[in-house]
Order: sequence, then structure tokens, then C-alpha cells
Amino acid sequence: MQQRLFNKILVANRGEIAVRVMKTIQEMGIQAVALASDADLQAEHVRQADAVIHLPGDKPADTYLQGEKIVQLAKAIGVDAVHPGYGFLSENATFAEACQAAGITFIGPSPQVIRDMGDKIIAKALMQQAGVPVVPGWAGDLETDFAQILKEANAIGYPLLVKAAAGGGGKGMRLVHSAQELESAFGAAAREAQSAFGDARVFLEKYITKPRHVEFQIFGDSHGNVVHLFERECSIQRRHQKIIEESPSPALDAELRAKMGTAAVKAAQAMSYTNAGTVEFIVSERGEFYFLEVNTRLQVEHPVTEMITQLDLVRLQIQVAAGLPLPFQQADLRQTGHALECRIYAEDPARNFMPGIGKLAFYRPPSGPFIRLDSGVREGSEVTVHYDPMLAKLIVWGPDRQAALQKMSWALSRFVVLGVPNNVEYLKAIVDHPAFVAGQLHTHFLEEHGITAPTPEPSDAVWTLGALSASLLQGGSQTNATQTDQTGQTTFSPWQQGGAWRALSCQK
Ligand code: ADP
Repeated sequence: MQQRLFNKILVANRGEIAVRVMKTIQEMGIQAVALASDADLQAEHVRQADAVIHLPGDKPADTYLQGEKIVQLAKAIGVDAVHPGYGFLSENATFAEACQAAGITFIGPSPQVIRDMGDKIIAKALMQQAGVPVVPGWAGDLETDFAQILKEANAIGYPLLVKAAAGGGGKGMRLVHSAQELESAFGAAAREAQSAFGDARVFLEKYITKPRHVEFQIFGDSHGNVVHLFERECSIQRRHQKIIEESPSPALDAELRAKMGTAAVKAAQAMSYTNAGTVEFIVSERGEFYFLEVNTRLQVEHPVTEMITQLDLVRLQIQVAAGLPLPFQQADLRQTGHALECRIYAEDPARNFMPGIGKLAFYRPPSGPFIRLDSGVREGSEVTVHYDPMLAKLIVWGPDRQAALQKMSWALSRFVVLGVPNNVEYLKAIVDHPAFVAGQLHTHFLEEHGITAPTPEPSDAVWTLGALSASLLQGGSQTNATQTDQTGQTTFSPWQQGGAWRALSCQK
């Protein structure tokens, strides 16, 4: 039995990522402590924890974002490390410092790196110095005379993007098609950035048309070792938010992968990066790649990397945070097979993706060989207005892309969620689309192909469940619903049924 690296780790997060991180913590023989807002007292991550810190209130600002308070309460119960997950306090340098000041290990990079990478202008300048390709652009003083900014913009050419230095989630970003639009877009982006981040600084960047989003997982330890764990293709986005991710990227050949991987490691070395991080790039149609930003945390889509490297990234994060060296070198790492991830959201694609709330009356995710589900809910869970509507992530692995696609399509067709609207059928429509199957991905894929949710038509699985439920209601005497197929096997056919099951199946 290995020596325990920590005694008690607090997972300063909620939902699926808290559940996923706690699994590894507990597997390592460490106690997992959860946070619970009032709305989350019965949540899945709270049920899985060994101890819970209650944060009264519902709003993130009163609960999961209360860094100082969380550190004090954690200290009081003997927590010796904090895993921040993603979102909330995960990229908050002040929180990382507060942990350190309290003698608690923050499982992530140093506060200085978090701070620098949180500023896109500083990050870009650092990358440029390190010789990593960046998108051509201009980053100057906001006080600069507008005539000068216009000159810079004309030199970059149109279309271009105005982006916020402190940006995130696509906020403070404006697309500019011509010189006439520049002044108002510049002002609007700066105002939005000021109100969202309290920082009005914006910069200009050439707009790459039809790009792919390809990111590299990086890992560093405190002994100066840095590696990359290959790429994730995240081009399928809705309003700049990723919804399907995969690895390997269908766009990279061995040469481009090696070049981008070397650039990612160079980027990590330039900041003496420790722990898990992601270097994001955009790749043009011609295969040129440009640095976009560094995310200084574990990503939502990390399971894709875990599937193709067979490494537990959370375990590595904990080991590295405890001061252990990475147990491998770059040459030891292999990308095996193909992995895909779909984000399952409680939202209604037919109603402009309005978030859905309510009770998960029926929740039957698929299972099978090489199918992984990272879920933050279970049947009966309440989906509330307070938090992100992501319910779960469905991840599959196959020996090659075609096999992984086939498995994902099948798994989605067997994913049954009743009680709240969800995007399962929308995801299946994407995965089955010929352009997706052909790997012709870019960040405007969904708009270009006009992919909308199919007219709600209950899948086979839903019909079957409806039928089974009806069967229970009717006392189980369903002999007239069985049919014999050509192979002589007897199957259950809901089509032979009338009445209750049809009404029930329509609640989807
Ligand atoms: P945020 O931090 O707000 O998410 P990013 O810089 O990471 O912003 O960009 C988010 C998404 O916006 C990218 O994945 C890409 O789709 C698009 N994007 C960003 N910069 C450019 C660019 N220069 N050209 C084209 N698309 C871009």
C-alpha cells in the first residue's frame, strides 16, 4: 500500500466534476470533503463525500465563490489540500494564495501563473517571447488615440475580433467586419468587459475564418519536468461553448501534432508550469496554428485524454501537488485508439436551448464496454436555476474514430432522460451528420449545417420504457405485446400496445 499523500482533500466545486474528482481521492485512500449550498444538500456530490461543509445560501456568489470563508472552514476541519475542479474558484489566484497562506495545498499551478494566464494580453506577450505562434493583432493602451487604433486595425485587416484581456466564456468579444464598425465595437467590448470582469482592457486580433479549436493537455511537476498529453479537438461549439470533444483530432497528421505538441511544451516551460493545464490553439483551414490561451485547471473535457492515454489526470494532479515527480517522460506517452465526449445538458434545443429545470423523473444512462459516464445527478435529482445545466458527460472509446462514432451514436440512442428537456437527440443528430462523420469540423459547424434538434420523436428506448412502465401499471400481463421475429426470437413490441404507455412516453 502506497503512503497517503494527503489526509483530507476538499473539492471546492459541485456537480459532475466534484463527483469525478472525489472518486480518485477516495480511491487513493484520502478523505473527500464536499461543499454544499442549500440547494445542493441532497446533491449527488454531497452524497458521495466523506464529510461536508455547508455553505448557507443558493447563489454562487454567496456559496461556492466565497473563497476566504471556504479556506477558513476547511482549515477548521483539518483539510490539507483543495482541488478546485473547473469554473468557480479554479482560476482565482487570490483563492490559491489564501489556501497557501492557510497551509493548505492548492492542487493546481502557482498563483502567479494563474494570474498571468488570466490576462490574455500578458499571456500572448509571454507566448510570443517564447516563440509560440500567436494570432496577429494589436494590444496597446486603452488611452491610445483612436486614429492610431484604426491604423493598427487596418494593418491587421478585416474581419477582426475585439477581445477582452480578462475575457472568458466569449464575453467582451466583438467581430468587426469593416473600419466603420470598429469604434462602436471597441467601445461595446470594453464596456462589457468592464461590467463582467471589472477590467475594460481590450485588444485586437485577426479573425481566422472557419478555424478549428485544437488544444493540448499539458502537465508539469515541481522538478522541472513538462510534457504534453496530446490534443483534444473541440471545434463543435455553440456560442463559443464546446459541446463535443474528441482525441485524436481528425485534422492533425503526425507532423502537425508534433509541431503543436512542441509549441505547447515550450509554452508550459516559458511559465515554469506545474500541475495540469491546457494550451488552446486555433488552427486555420490551411493548417496554420495560433496560440489562443492557457487554461490553468482541469478541463471539462479531460476524460477524452484519460481514455486515449489511460492515465487518471486527477491522480496525477494530486501526486504532483504533493511534490512527486511525473512518473513518465514524453517519449513514454502514447495516444491509443479514439475517444469522444458529449456534454449532456438540461436544455431545450427546440426552444432556443432554454435551460430546463425540474425533477429528473427517469434517468437511465447507457452502459457497456468502453462507455464512461461522468454524472452529477441521479434519478430523482432536482435540476435548479442556480447552476450550470450540464447533467453529465458521456465518454466513449473505440480502437479508431469510426468505432468510437458508432459507439457514441448507439450510446446516445440508449440515453433516456425524462422530466427535464435535454439535448441528447440534438447531440445524436450532430454525431450522425455526414460532415461530422467525415471529420470536417470547424467552430461554425452547427450554424453552417443548420443542425437543429430533430422533431421530438421518442427513441426506441423511450418507447420501450414507456411500454414497460405501462406494463407495470397494468399488472404486467402483456402477453399480447410480444412478437416472434424471423429468427424465431420472441421480442417485446410496444406497437402492439395501446393506452397508458403512449401517454407516458410523451412526457419526454
Ligand atoms: P474565451 O476565453 O472568452 O472563451 P477564447 O479566446 O478562448 O475566448 O475563444 C473562444 C472561442 O472563440 C474559440 O474557441 C474560437 O471558436 C473563437 N475565437 C477566438 N479567437 C478567435 C480568432 N482570432 N479567430 C477566430 N475565432 C476565434
